[in-house]
This record gives sequence, structure tokens and C-alpha cells, in this order.
Amino acid sequence: MKMIATIFDIDGTVVECFDFDGTSYISAIRDILGEVYINDDWSQYKNVTDTGILRQIMKKNKIQEKGQIGKLSKKFGELIGQYLENGGECCPKKGAVCLIDKLLSDRHYKIGVATGGWKHTAKMKLRHAGFDLRNTVLFSSDDSAERVEIMEKCLSALGDSFHRIVYVGDAVWDIQATKKLGWHFIGVGPRLKGKCEFWVEDYSNYDTFMRMLHA
Ligand SMILES: [Mg+2]
Repeated sequence: MKMIATIFDIDGTVVECFDFDGTSYISAIRDILGEVYINDDWSQYKNVTDTGILRQIMKKNKIQEKGQIGKLSKKFGELIGQYLENGGECCPKKGAVCLIDKLLSDRHYKIGVATGGWKHTAKMKLRHAGFDLRNTVLFSSDDSAERVEIMEKCLSALGDSFHRIVYVGDAVWDIQATKKLGWHFIGVGPRLKGKCEFWVEDYSNYDTFMRMLHA
């Protein structure tokens, strides 16, 4: 049987979280590290993951790592949790819940989630947006500071008998990581419009997405 591994990024790809994620991340950094210099253009970082960015900020500000990452991740989790509890916006990308449900119920596909975010907030956002996480594997910045490694770990958890591997993401760093791995790529949302061969605005057209998955 020919099987396709499909691995999704989370933020901007299956979940729309607007600005609260970045704002909360910066608040958590300020809370734990104080008034350090932060470049909030994430594309400028070597590893665009929650752990990767933080390590680079600490290095730039000459801060030695002594348990701050764990504290900061905890603080960030609290902020995101509060935001969601207080009715903050975090919704699924149009058609995403239905698409992932369909793929999960079809034995020709294996579905995974590989995000540059930390695991606790990734789960909170997916649950809040209405995804059922029971049958998915989730790899995050808790598993590595490097996106490529997070994606690789996710794939090995899915198995190794795929005739095609596809990553679905919404940012330039997703394209770069996918290229390094030699996988196929589907871009989602406004940031990648016109920047990749296969692109969808959202998942409202199931057939279009499926065609790209097999292209
Ligand atoms: Mg993203």
C-alpha cells in the first residue's frame, strides 16, 4: 500500500492565533530575563523555534543558561492559558479540523504535527481550536531547538514506509526546513502567497488540497 506522510505546522497553518502568541512570548521573556534586547523579526533567527529563539536572545545578551528556559516556558504557558480562558481568539484555519479528521480516518495517510512552539501551548491551542489530538503525534520545541530535527523526529514516529512526505506550513522558515529534508511542501495562508509552487489560502477546498498532496 502506498502511504503518504503529512506533517503539519501549527501556528498560521492549522490554527489562527493572531498576535497574542508573539506578545505573550515577549512578555514571558521580559518577566524572566528583564529588559533584554529582543529582535521581534523572527525570520532573522537561526532557529525559529521557541527554544531556538530564546537561546539566541540569551547568547546575544550574554546570559548564561541556568534554568531560565524552563521557567520561561512555564510563564509563557500561563500567559497563553489565561488568554484562552478569558475568551481570547484562537480558531482553526477554515476546513482544517474536517481535513485532518478525514486524513486520520484514511489508512493511506499518516498525520503528524511538528511545531517550533513548545508542547504545552501547542496542545492548548489545538484543543481550543477544536482538534482531536488522540490519534496524532506531536513534536515540538521541547524535542529540539531545530525545526528540521523536530520534523525528522515526527516522521520517525510515524514510520518509514512512505512513498511521499509532505510538510504543510505558513512561513519562509517552513519552506527552508522542508527543502533541507527533501520533502514536498504545501504553503498555507497570506505569508506564502506566490512564494511556493503549491499553495492554498485555507482548507475550504478539500479536493484542491488532496490534489496537491498527491502532486
Ligand atoms: Mg507557523
